Amino acid sequence: MRQINHYIAGKSYIDESESTASVFAPNTGDVQAEVFLANQNTLQKAVDSALAAQTEWAATNPQRRARVMFKFKELLEANRDRLAQLLSSEHGKVLSDAQGDIQRGLEVIEFACGIPHAQKGEYTEGAGPGIDVYSMRQALGVVAGITPFNFPAMIPMWMFGVAIACGNSFILKPSERDPSVPVELAKLMTEAGLPDGVLNVVHGNKEAVDGILDHKDIKAVSFVGSSDIANYVYERGARAGKRVQAMGGAKNHGIIMPDADLDQVVADLVGAAYGSAGERCMALPVVVPVGEETAEKLKAKLIPAIKDIMVSHSEDPNAHYGPVVTGEHKARIEGYIDLAIEEGAELVYDGRHSQIPTDSKGFFIGPTLFDHVTKDMRSYQEEIFGPVLQIVRANDFNEAVNLASDHQYGNGVAMYTRNGHAAREFAQRVNVGMVGINVPIPVPVAYHTFGGWKRSSFGDTNQHGMEGVKFWTKVKTITQRWPDGSDTNDNAFVIPTMG
Ligand code: NAD
Repeated sequence: MRQINHYIAGKSYIDESESTASVFAPNTGDVQAEVFLANQNTLQKAVDSALAAQTEWAATNPQRRARVMFKFKELLEANRDRLAQLLSSEHGKVLSDAQGDIQRGLEVIEFACGIPHAQKGEYTEGAGPGIDVYSMRQALGVVAGITPFNFPAMIPMWMFGVAIACGNSFILKPSERDPSVPVELAKLMTEAGLPDGVLNVVHGNKEAVDGILDHKDIKAVSFVGSSDIANYVYERGARAGKRVQAMGGAKNHGIIMPDADLDQVVADLVGAAYGSAGERCMALPVVVPVGEETAEKLKAKLIPAIKDIMVSHSEDPNAHYGPVVTGEHKARIEGYIDLAIEEGAELVYDGRHSQIPTDSKGFFIGPTLFDHVTKDMRSYQEEIFGPVLQIVRANDFNEAVNLASDHQYGNGVAMYTRNGHAAREFAQRVNVGMVGINVPIPVPVAYHTFGGWKRSSFGDTNQHGMEGVKFWTKVKTITQRWPDGSDTNDNAFVIPTMG
């Protein structure tokens, strides 16, 4: 059986006494590898190696740090197909989605190549008599990232790309469900010239996470995963005196105004609701048609489009999407389908019995559509994270905006309309962090910033872009004067604001 080891100080690291977890092949349902789950000794080794490397790395001039990022970008491009294959085999997303996962991470690396500019401080000449004030953004030290299964390349790169470029050393605790690609990324960083110990990968579960949250030498933690755990990570990390950002779950709404281009909406929904089997935090699992006529027209167009969705093995080039990540997750999604039926939603299209490769014990689940879902239903209030689309009908614009605004999650939202005034008002009013106007999955580009609101994000800084630089650095402000003895007032220091 293939073993997936930790990666510490530029080398594969193994402690045979540790327990392991199974990594499945979602296409077949088989176990394909075992991953070691770090104990506290392993975590301490990673912290020691990160501590040993950090001071010199932070003192490396920013242009040299950027050159490592440039080289890493080239290596990523050269290894993209191999990585996508590996990613797809553990996650179950189709190869084109796996390529996209790598591509979106690579774009953050491109942003990180500009770190000499992004990390510059500010300067005020003559803030008082002979006094100048300047600021610098310094690395925090040893920092950590804890990532979910659904983007095993992109989300680690959101974090370590910016953190390392800023001069930190990094401990990555990836999801134990698809842990191979994060290790491969770390190896490529070493090949790109990153000094040993600046990036370490430690696999594990709650024990490793708690160890990171409590460790006195880890100064900041970035987390992405489900909301209850995000909340826990935020509170426990903050109690231990760390800087913490913790992104949680989502239930993104797509609001469809009566004037929307419904053919465009349906084409977009097929990808946004069902792509990657709905295992995206920026998926659109809720569609809100405004007015009964819009709802009926939309439903009539959606049903044939859903029938055409092909669910198959992740390597099948014709597949729209592949299996979900584990059998446990499949059972959880099916549990929500049962719940929605019990709650009285209308099951329009049942994915449990359709379009699934019949020769496979893989974790497949077909596209599912519910209509007449209402806001009091638990299946609406909670995140399903599977290929299940729910239609929640709204009478008017206000009701639609309030649905999205009042939901516990506030990651993304989309609106389809041809009316610029309505779109503008929507963008201003809606209580959600990332908004798409005629864009189904409004994931911001790497030089902007990614982050939701409400229970989709705990802490107040986002991922990547300048918010990322801000999260991974601390500001030092220097007020200086250099009296040369020629002025009789030299000994009388004047506070700048009084000067
Ligand atoms: P998860 O919460 O199960 O796991 C995330 C990380 O937490 C993993 O590294 C895991 O090992 C660790 N973990 C699991 N249980 C833990 C516990 N009890 N204590 C401490 N740590 C624990 O999430 P997942 O299933 O891997 O990923 C899917 C979730 O992530 C969805 O809710 C999705 O919406 C969310 N997500 C959010 C964003 C965002 O930016 N808001 C992006 C991607 C995914």
